Amino acid sequence: MEKERIYIFDTTLRDGEQAPGYSMNLDEKIRMALQLEALGVDVLEAGFAIASPGDFESVRTIAATMKETTVASLSRALTKDIDAAWEAVKEAKRPRIHTFLATSDLHLEYKLKMSRKEALEQAVAMVRYARNLCGEVEFSAEDATRTDLEFLCQVVEAVIEAGASVVNLPDTVGYAVPEDMTRMVGTVMNKVSNIDKAIIAVHCHNDLGLAVANSLAGLKAGARQIEGTLCGIGERAGNAALEEVAMAIRTRSDELPFAYALQTEQISKSAQILAQITGIKANPSKAIVGANAFAHESGIHQHGMMANSLTYEIMTPESVGVRDTSFVLGKHSGMHAFTKRLVELGYNKEKEEIKALFAEFKNIADRKKSVGDRDLIALVESSTQSSPVVWELDNFVVNSGNLMTSTACVTLRKGDRTYQEVARGTGPVYASLRAVEKIIRHPFSLEDYTLQAVTEHRDALGEVFVKISDGGGIYRGRGVSTDVIEASILSCLAAVNRMLDEASLSRHDGIKPTSAPNFENDMLSSHSDKKKGELNG
Ligand SMILES: [Zn+2]
Repeated sequence: MEKERIYIFDTTLRDGEQAPGYSMNLDEKIRMALQLEALGVDVLEAGFAIASPGDFESVRTIAATMKETTVASLSRALTKDIDAAWEAVKEAKRPRIHTFLATSDLHLEYKLKMSRKEALEQAVAMVRYARNLCGEVEFSAEDATRTDLEFLCQVVEAVIEAGASVVNLPDTVGYAVPEDMTRMVGTVMNKVSNIDKAIIAVHCHNDLGLAVANSLAGLKAGARQIEGTLCGIGERAGNAALEEVAMAIRTRSDELPFAYALQTEQISKSAQILAQITGIKANPSKAIVGANAFAHESGIHQHGMMANSLTYEIMTPESVGVRDTSFVLGKHSGMHAFTKRLVELGYNKEKEEIKALFAEFKNIADRKKSVGDRDLIALVESSTQSSPVVWELDNFVVNSGNLMTSTACVTLRKGDRTYQEVARGTGPVYASLRAVEKIIRHPFSLEDYTLQAVTEHRDALGEVFVKISDGGGIYRGRGVSTDVIEASILSCLAAVNRMLDEASLSRHDGIKPTSAPNFENDMLSSHSDKKKGELNG
């Protein structure tokens, strides 16, 4: 049976990025967008252009960067939104304007204060307006799953007539069950007379844990575009996880005879990059991309797997790009083996970069017997933090115990000079970060701090992820070491270097005044009473 082509619409950078904790800066969005293009998504929703100048700029930059992928910007059904969306995507090889209007009575009455007739007219007028700017227009009937089906069919027919080539029927609030999707999509496919002129899309939220099941039901009923995000990130309980949709189709082609352009072997790497950027790792038991997704612990399973992997394995780890992790490097491994493994892991680095990474690797291998793939990935990712190095760690000493106030003496390097400060704090991490703050003379507050072990072993590397703020913006940093205090200082310095880089840029543009150091009222002291820091008092 001929497989029908379906289209994957990724909204990791819009719906996903909207979720708390997942916001990304421009560099991070571009890095993620490039990986999503390598993954092979058909459409990339890069943002909501009118939401802020930052959003506009990131949509514009991503549009200009993508080689093949269609780039869409979301916009309400308003001319000023559509204008902004078009300005942002028009440089793309394949631009798309994605405009939406709610169609359920609940939204019309309480949110939009519009009648059905007015909504229908506005949807048509705005699709027409968008089509005059852009050849490809997608219309979303927000809250479609709670919209009267008769009316929904009328709206779909009218917006297709007005020029929409994709019509999305979102389950905005995650209320539907698969039977609803079958009925809704099926009815639209049957009743709308010009349905052959457009593609129907589904966009499902996961409030009841049904986003993927609902998306697949939509597909079987005739939808040909699935909208979702990497790892299912998104507002509230998130969106349909694209990797789950893709692997369900690949594994169960008997039930789901569809073809797509996605390279499933890129899934694991894509999820890793998302986790590295945001500092949020997937739940270990998360389907497809969780750390345990392919681990077989029970003896019976292991026995069966050895006899024939099909006994307990429905898909191979290789099919989503998970490589054999038994490969380890040690302190006697040479540059050649190190470089070879990096390439196998998908990192093609310049000679100079490899040299620097190798030096860091040797440092770790001295302290840790075996260095596995996850250690290597953490090492590479922590050094790929796209910020210029202003401050570097020279050395530190901490004195800490359960019956004393911790003190830290930190020495940092800037150019060929070194600077040293001593600070006290309720714990060694806090004392060390205060010492850093005193040296750099630019107050900041600690917004988030997470410490995770890279592997499960006793000699695991500690990976620290911090978010700091100087009142102007949020800056992230990552640090990796066998010593958690060192990892904390390194992550803080990565964030500090970004912060100072940004501060010097805006000073240059005359946008932001420089903040005077004020250690009376710095964050690290306010953080100690578990409050978000207020600065520059
Ligand atoms: Zn959504």
